[in-house]
Amino acid sequence: MKLGLFGFPVGHSRSPRLFARLATLIKKPISYEAVAVPLGTLAAAARLRRAAGWRGVNVTAPLKAEAAAYADRLTPAARALGAVNVLRFGRGVVGHNTDAQGLRDALKSAGVKARGKSTLVFGAGGAARAAGWALAREGARSVRFTARTASRARRTANDLRKIFPRTRFSAGAGAPAEIWINATPLGMKGFPDRSPAPKHLPSPEAAVDLVYGRRTAFQRDAAARGARVEDGAAMLVYQALRAWEFWDKPLGGRRRAALAGPLMKEVFK
Ligand code: NAP
Repeated sequence: MKLGLFGFPVGHSRSPRLFARLATLIKKPISYEAVAVPLGTLAAAARLRRAAGWRGVNVTAPLKAEAAAYADRLTPAARALGAVNVLRFGRGVVGHNTDAQGLRDALKSAGVKARGKSTLVFGAGGAARAAGWALAREGARSVRFTARTASRARRTANDLRKIFPRTRFSAGAGAPAEIWINATPLGMKGFPDRSPAPKHLPSPEAAVDLVYGRRTAFQRDAAARGARVEDGAAMLVYQALRAWEFWDKPLGGRRRAALAGPLMKEVFK
């Protein structure tokens, strides 16, 4: 199956290695190529690959909104999040989002239980929306978004409130919570390595960083306060497995979990 990744830049991506390992594990021929696609050129790049018989692509920054506009049809998750991280090519193009489900899988595998909990999400972009969606689906009591642009945090809270009326969504300054999620790029390569958490907040039970592959200030800060800490590696692997299932067929929970371990080792060795 011919697959790939569209983004800009893509040189740093771990996805080609991940899918090469997946091909070996599930004994299927997969070709996977990372393509540098500047903003505004996704349609042309997709047309070329569709003509060459590709089954689909993963989509990463800064193209997730452009991919949503390009798709002929969106799945409910992609529509709810306004962002597409995977496209499936066929007679038409279907856009889907596996970030939120990938985070749910990752929380489950780490034993982080959001049911009935208060949660605080740092950031208000696409990853923060996916985190809000995942937390609400897991039955969180409340989700608060905090970002420097207050209006964006409010919009994210308002949009999700319409979909999940049972979870209390709010936006504003950081407030005490049982679970923290870092959905800002702070700590990622090329960004300042600072914790977005205000000093005065008490420790959460668990702090989940969506940044992966490095011990960030957010993770060190939360660990020093006494929280258990998870990074974004499991989410990365699970969103990729969910994308594979969208192109191919469902793996099932047990198989998915069994594949996640070796994939994590391959990608982060
Ligand atoms: P984005 O759309 O650029 O959003 C980033 C958000 O962070 C914005 O709302 C920004 O708002 C906020 N922010 C930046 N600095 C901040 C600060 N000092 N304090 C509070 N908020 C701050 O990026 P994204 O696509 O959502 O991605 C965010 C992160 O998630 C990236 O590191 C990405 O790698 C990671 N991610 C990981 C996975 C995975 O599989 N593990 C999947 C998707 C994304 P303001 O500028 O208004 O503060």
